[in-house]
Amino acid sequence: MLAASSIVELRKRLLAREISPRDIVLDVSKAIEERNHELGAYLSWDVEAALTEADSADIQAPLGGIPLAVKDNINVSGQPCTCGSRILGENYRAPYDAGVIQRMRQGGGVPFGRLNMDEFAMGSSTENSALGITRNPRDLSRVPGGSSGGSAAAVAGNLAIAALGSDTGGSIRQPAALCGCVGIKPTYGRISRYGLVAFASSLDQIGPLTRTVEDAALLLNHLCGHDRHDSTSLNVETPDFMSAVGRDIKGVRVGLPKEYFISGTHPGVAAAVQAAIRQLESLGAIIEEISLPHTELGVATYYVLAPAEASANLARFDGVRYGHRSDRAGDLLEQYMLSRSEGFGPEVRRRILLGTYVLSSGYYDAYYIRAQKARTLIRGDFIEAFKKVDVIVSPTSPMPAHKLGELKENPLAAYLEDVFTIPVNLAGLPGVSVPCGDVVLDGVSLPVGLQIVGKALDESTLLQVAHAFEQTR
Ligand code: GLN
Repeated sequence: MLAASSIVELRKRLLAREISPRDIVLDVSKAIEERNHELGAYLSWDVEAALTEADSADIQAPLGGIPLAVKDNINVSGQPCTCGSRILGENYRAPYDAGVIQRMRQGGGVPFGRLNMDEFAMGSSTENSALGITRNPRDLSRVPGGSSGGSAAAVAGNLAIAALGSDTGGSIRQPAALCGCVGIKPTYGRISRYGLVAFASSLDQIGPLTRTVEDAALLLNHLCGHDRHDSTSLNVETPDFMSAVGRDIKGVRVGLPKEYFISGTHPGVAAAVQAAIRQLESLGAIIEEISLPHTELGVATYYVLAPAEASANLARFDGVRYGHRSDRAGDLLEQYMLSRSEGFGPEVRRRILLGTYVLSSGYYDAYYIRAQKARTLIRGDFIEAFKKVDVIVSPTSPMPAHKLGELKENPLAAYLEDVFTIPVNLAGLPGVSVPCGDVVLDGVSLPVGLQIVGKALDESTLLQVAHAFEQTR
């Protein structure tokens, strides 16, 4: 089945003229037709448009003829971009290609299909999507994680070759961990955010979800790079990430933050991660305990800063310029209020309220400014730790995938699931999740992810360690 192959395998077969880009698109669309009704990974997919692009794809280009699925908050010209929300309405079509999509096309890749997500990327289970449920391919009674749950379910369920997601506090790494695929959040600024619908602009980062570490490296080679349309895009050289793949890890210093290895993590997750650490050691890595003393502040800091930024970013959905407009309003003010309360779901409304509150005069210093100071402390922890080690390893998520509905009424418990991923966004660092084992719950084996975090701009070492580990499995 072509839809279950890696990019690297497909590229070989394309170059050998055994298959055509059209064959791949048709096979992926067949897989979607067969299984999307139970997985709910895709919200929409336009086979005709993808076939037209596949037919004219340049096979010699590095991603030539490879269909890549896209989270529904990244603009692809002419395609829907719902953000998992009702507020943009059914008829909204993206007016332009996001920077990352421009690069994908320059590399010969074909954007194909729109993936479900928590509304405006707020959540960790994809249950906050206003447009339907996404299920974990390993166990259909469980969530795929989130917010890029559609991306992870599509890749792990063999409904996509690879996918793009976005990660503000863990939204690429956590669903990758829960579904059993590779997900990497590059350094903040590596991939353009132009055309990514903003959630929390100082934290958001686009990245790939793939079957293999090598595929992630290949995609990063072609998706990273400066974009003058994004003021936070880094104007730095993109190294050849593929050259990190296959290098041994003898002497690589791996830090284990003592604050991350405490009770609260599911015993099955902890066991899988401990086994992975022994495996790294047997490959020649040097394991060292380190400390990230302000870890405890991470989740609270994030839940001040991310909602604050979201409340500003989401102000544009006012029912005037675009999107849903209430027809029940008597005057202009009521029109704003009704359009927004009808259009946004409960989690988004909760975040807007929180964000508006922490930014309001009188509370700004007590919450927003303090959170910015805490962010500086967290960033400082990592700077100190990276004087001693090359990468930092932990579970990606403390829990395996939970049952659908289990945490729906308990947002605080859901927020705590991001305890290991959030600090990485606050510090702007690159992080990857690679499958590292299983935990058996109710007779079903559920994937566990190993998170590897690196120094700013050092995705190469992440990929090197992740790949070496992947080869042992
Ligand atoms: N789960 C976190 C949240 O709900 C992170 C989401 C994300 O990374 N987009 O905000």
